[in-house]
Amino acid sequence: MSVRVRFAPSPTGPLHIGGVRTALYNYLFSKANGGKFLLRIEDTDQTRFVNGAEEYIVEALNWCGLTIDEGDRAGGEHGPYKQSLRFKLYSKAVDELIASGNAYRAFDTPKELAIMRAEAESRKKVFQYDARTRGGCKNELSMSSAEVDELLANGVPHVVRFKTPEAPKDVVFTDEIRGKVSVSSAVIDDKVLMKMDGLPTYHLANVVDDHHMEISHVIRGEEWLPSAPLHILLYRAFKWNAPKFAHLPLILKPEGNGKLSKRDGDAGGFPVFPIEWKDPKTGSVTSGYREQGYDPQAFINMLLMLGWNPGGVKEKFTLEEAVDCFSLDRIVKSGARFSPDKAKWYNELYLREKPHSELADELCSIAAAKGLVVSNDDAHKIVGMMLERVSFLKDIFEANWLFETPSKEDFNLKMVKKKWKDETSSYLEELSGVLEKIKVFKAENIEAEFKGFLEAKDLGFGQVLLPFRIALTGSGGGPSMFEFAEFLGKEATMARLQKGIDTIAEIKAEQNN
Ligand code: GLU
Repeated sequence: MSVRVRFAPSPTGPLHIGGVRTALYNYLFSKANGGKFLLRIEDTDQTRFVNGAEEYIVEALNWCGLTIDEGDRAGGEHGPYKQSLRFKLYSKAVDELIASGNAYRAFDTPKELAIMRAEAESRKKVFQYDARTRGGCKNELSMSSAEVDELLANGVPHVVRFKTPEAPKDVVFTDEIRGKVSVSSAVIDDKVLMKMDGLPTYHLANVVDDHHMEISHVIRGEEWLPSAPLHILLYRAFKWNAPKFAHLPLILKPEGNGKLSKRDGDAGGFPVFPIEWKDPKTGSVTSGYREQGYDPQAFINMLLMLGWNPGGVKEKFTLEEAVDCFSLDRIVKSGARFSPDKAKWYNELYLREKPHSELADELCSIAAAKGLVVSNDDAHKIVGMMLERVSFLKDIFEANWLFETPSKEDFNLKMVKKKWKDETSSYLEELSGVLEKIKVFKAENIEAEFKGFLEAKDLGFGQVLLPFRIALTGSGGGPSMFEFAEFLGKEATMARLQKGIDTIAEIKAEQNN
């Protein structure tokens, strides 16, 4: 059997990262088995359709490098790959089910159904349209054919419902991840397959399309597990072979309690969408992993490990490597807890492996967009100094002092107050005299002279190095100041040092007043 899998999102908004993971696992499974990866847009529910959502899905998958083999844009022999273009197929299928006695027309109005629901509720019961109740409802199983014909002739709106078989009692199937799943058919209701407007519901369209598109494996989120028994029954009613099913575990909140939501992302300051989403109605913009500066490979690697266990210590997998070892039996059954720190860690991993020349080019273009002029040579050096200290390349720009001499406003006042003693300025003035004399202004020479100065003056590192850093950068933290001084060059270092000392004197004077 050839492997054919599909990612079948509904264009109702941006893709959640859980959806991207579903797409990823489908992609990997198809590639690992020499199969095909399809994109099918499930847009039967026109009331939930959101403008731009389909384009968003395509762009997001593209950014992630998940190439579609068959789809409306990629082409293929099983198209169209959008459900709104396949309505004829669903009408034909539903007619077949009616003819074979597996589906029936029901004429209950929404109001009548609401009354039945309320009545059941008053008895602390839940109304379910099924073998026990359908006899008391308005449908072609409870009415005479003359009555039905009349209603149909008068164009009375109706739905088509699936006739859940009374036997077997349990629907049993094997989930590739969870093993044997058994569901009592008593909990399966007579689901609507065709709505009053003549449009199919998700269940009908999904099963019909999976069959016609020759899908071998349905790999989808756990939230669809409750629908699987109905789908199995539909396959049986159509006398079609059912595909294999694999229901993926949920992606959980960082705290582990419940499904990861957009609200968690907003609260924790991390995205839950792959790329930026602009809501067409409100115009509000929600950031994505792409806009946060993530390397798509890092993002995909992080998602790969959220629910799939390679069974070793290796955590870094390129898409190609993952294809080589991906299998459904290594997908975990329980929910996978999302970790924003791990996501960042993955980005650092990929960032630090990139060729410096590539990063330097990127740095130059970010700089240019910010109106800063940075030469490629300087960008190279900055990358060398900063790469181990940032999670994203753009973070480098938080250290504004790399690009510009700090002005008075840039100085960390608390740090100046705490770390700059009365005698500090004089130490730095003296240090300046020592640095001035260095012939070859290289980090190792600067460091040697610096240490010599401390020894001669019997001073500790802490008394001079942090002030030296504050004078040059305005704050604490960052790369080695010897390296940074080399980067600045002698003249600029001396000038910055002097300006720093002067500015701090001003700040100190204000603080003492
Ligand atoms: N359209 C469904 C969704 O939005 C697809 C479910 C499935 O893969 O069967 O997730």
